[in-house]
Amino acid sequence: MLKVIVISLLANPIAKSISNIPSVKSLAFKYVGAEDIESFINNKINDILNDNYKITISFLGEHYHSQEDIERYKKNVLDIIRKISVFQNVTVSIKLTALGLDMDYEYCKDNLGEIIEFASKFNIRIHIDMEQSIYIDNSLSLFDLYRKEYKYNNLDITFQAYLYRTSKDIEDRILSFDWDSRPIVRICKGAYKEPFDKVFPNKKLIDENYYNISVKMLDNIQKVYPAFATHDHKIIEKIKNYVQYKGISIDSFEFQMLYGIRQDLQRKIIDQGYNLRIYIPIGSEWYDYFVRRIAEKPSNILLVLYSLLKRQK
Ligand SMILES: Cc1cc2nc3c(=O)[nH]c(=O)nc-3n(C[C@H](O)[C@H](O)[C@H](O)COP(=O)(O)OP(=O)(O)OC[C@H]3O[C@@H](n4cnc5c(N)ncnc54)[C@H](O)[C@@H]3O)c2cc1C
Repeated sequence: MLKVIVISLLANPIAKSISNIPSVKSLAFKYVGAEDIESFINNKINDILNDNYKITISFLGEHYHSQEDIERYKKNVLDIIRKISVFQNVTVSIKLTALGLDMDYEYCKDNLGEIIEFASKFNIRIHIDMEQSIYIDNSLSLFDLYRKEYKYNNLDITFQAYLYRTSKDIEDRILSFDWDSRPIVRICKGAYKEPFDKVFPNKKLIDENYYNISVKMLDNIQKVYPAFATHDHKIIEKIKNYVQYKGISIDSFEFQMLYGIRQDLQRKIIDQGYNLRIYIPIGSEWYDYFVRRIAEKPSNILLVLYSLLKRQK
């Protein structure tokens, strides 16, 4: 409930003006890798990769309604693909509403196709982030089209455990298909404000669903490469125990976490020998992403208030 209130308050256009305050921006850059890919490559990428983390880069942008914005987003993504192709273990995450899903399905389809085709030439994987539930059906059809019909094996997808529908979606769309090569399926809890009839009503039930889905994927490890995207150490421990109990190779799946969150836990997972990918947003349109991160932990609201107070001094 608190999460829904925080998202509603901060997403308000008046509240959005706080993004111009330098202390708020510097707080946001705890979660954002850089304003552009050049500065990320010049200043950060080697340190992160040398520490054995894998990376997915997400160029910030969503809900575009103009062709100009969408073309700019696409151009940036293509540029990122070209520039990261010299590194190992780096993939790219994208949002379909930044490629036109809110405007026109066919246009979005063409834009996605262009990106996957370009990325396939460089051997780069493209990962579709999952947005609000109204986009799920179209996102899954685009995934099916390119992955199952056109056989682009470099395309991967995300599901959200807070939704009632997800367990069945994973069974129907992922586990019952005969893949040439396993897709990476990211399972996260879900970050958006959703209608009450679509999501589990509390954290306990969401966590249970998350774990049950994780087990379902691990039980079908020949069909899917699960990516457990969570900072929840209790769930992570349960997954590790299940993997050991079933004798599943630790190279058949990975954990994923967001840049700047629970770095202690990130280090521990790497030191224990597991694969961990850090999701790193890049770009100047960081506000909506930042709001979702603030909403996830009540004490983060205090950090925002503190950065606003710092400005008054
Ligand atoms: C790699 C990755 C990709 C993602 N992709 C998507 C996506 O495509 N679509 C989507 O809807 N959501 C996505 N998310 C966000 C996800 O849905 C959750 O909103 C987010 O990960 C918080 O949930 P949690 O699993 O960490 O569990 P929680 O129960 O929320 O948190 C567990 C613990 O982690 C810590 N923590 C969590 N969030 C924060 C934070 N913001 N600041 C400080 N500490 C925190 C706290 O200690 C908390 O107690 C992604 C998350 C990750 C890690």
